[in-house]
Amino acid sequence: MFWKNGTEAAIGRPGSIAARLTFWYALLSIALIASVGSVLYWVLADRLQQENDRLLAGKIAEVRAVLKLHPNDYAALREEVQHEADTLPGIYIRVLNAQEDIVADSPTPSAIFDSGETFANAPHAIDEHGRDWFSSDGKKYRLMSGKFQEDALFTVHTAMSLSKEAQLLAAYRGSVLLSVVIALAIAIAGGYLIARREMQPASRLAAIVDELGAGQLHRRVGDEAWPLELRPLATNFDRLLSRLENSFARISRFSADIAHELRTPLHILRGEAEIALSRDRSNEDYRACIESSMDEYDRLSHMVDALLFLARTEQPAAQIDKKWLGVEQEIGAVCAFYQAMADEQGITLIAHGTGKVLADSGLLRRALGNLVANALRHTPSGERVVIEAKTLRNNAAEITVSDTGCGIAPEDLPRVLERFYRVDGARARQGQGSGLGLAIVQSIMHLHGGTVSIQSELDRGTDVTLTFPAAAGTA
Ligand code: ATP
Ligand code: MG
Repeated sequence: MFWKNGTEAAIGRPGSIAARLTFWYALLSIALIASVGSVLYWVLADRLQQENDRLLAGKIAEVRAVLKLHPNDYAALREEVQHEADTLPGIYIRVLNAQEDIVADSPTPSAIFDSGETFANAPHAIDEHGRDWFSSDGKKYRLMSGKFQEDALFTVHTAMSLSKEAQLLAAYRGSVLLSVVIALAIAIAGGYLIARREMQPASRLAAIVDELGAGQLHRRVGDEAWPLELRPLATNFDRLLSRLENSFARISRFSADIAHELRTPLHILRGEAEIALSRDRSNEDYRACIESSMDEYDRLSHMVDALLFLARTEQPAAQIDKKWLGVEQEIGAVCAFYQAMADEQGITLIAHGTGKVLADSGLLRRALGNLVANALRHTPSGERVVIEAKTLRNNAAEITVSDTGCGIAPEDLPRVLERFYRVDGARARQGQGSGLGLAIVQSIMHLHGGTVSIQSELDRGTDVTLTFPAAAGTA
């Protein structure tokens, strides 16, 4: 009755937990009370029957004792039977001799003794186990007979009305039934209230979660005293909040960085335009102004391209076209592209290594290109830049771009992969890039499930290593 059906039920167990708990409490309570009540009823009924049988067997034994004591004195026997009837109403005794004549009888013998089949085949000895019999008017009796040989053969039939006992048992049954109904009502009402009360922390947690907006991401809920079952939820929720807080902080820092990065070239462009427009100038002057603006336009478009690329690669649904590529061919193509620049700077560009890598060729070349561009920018003339590829023992591919340039200071090293991070100071050469190159390399490696690691020492050089994971089935 508490379940919703359909797809919701198929997903899990929707509906109210309190209602479901109540249903099970109630079911359990009924089962427990009904079974305990039934067992007690059965024990009581069995006990009563044993008592009745003992009583009837006692009567038969008493009749036998009287007959033994007064062998031919039926008067004594009748007196005894009369006495029994007086003291124990509801007990009937009839004594027959060998000829089946009645020698003694209770004063108000009922139809029990006259019903033909009641005492047919009376056992010889006293039968300790009586049997139930119902009269034609529906009344219940317990019957027991005994046959014994004293001076002559006697048969004693005893009967006992069970009307009182039946009433007692009926009352008992009624009580058990009433207890079940009351317990059911209590279990439903109490169980529901308890379950509702115990579920309150969950509602409180839901209310807290509901209150949280972008401005409250610093809040944590795990410190409160949650019930054991809710603790993992609260802890996981806190972790989610920290991740969101970090992402939020990163995004807002990123937006601020973008604004900052765009502002400088825009100011330069505006300043140049203002100067050009401040008075009439010759065509050559205008031309020079436009030409000098071109550098800033290039910078801006390089940055916008890089940002767009990062935005695309970081989309959760970003897809890449991975193929098995010959590493030699890929690093060769990157070297060929940068050869002219290297020659111009007097730097030797060396590539070696073979093997295969499962990657997107365009992205791989872009990542390697960024590394080679960095290496060329930070390496003095006469030095070397080496691209080396190797296949590791676990079949992962590794490509390292090494230079013998100025290196990166240890305090900058952990941050160079961040967007817009550029090393300041005298070492940073003028006309440096936008600080997005290594961030792009990192996103590309994320897309491939690989990693970027940088080793660098000031004035000795830098090694940047790209590790591509071993493709499934190749390790
Ligand atoms: P972009 O690549 O977008 O043109 P960038 O080269 O300045 O700009 P990154 O490639 O992300 O940006 O590099 C970040 C910083 O790390 C650089 O400013 C530079 O100081 C430092 N760096 C990167 N590669 C090297 C290297 N091989 N040797 C010394 N410093 C390096
Ligand atoms: Mg760079």
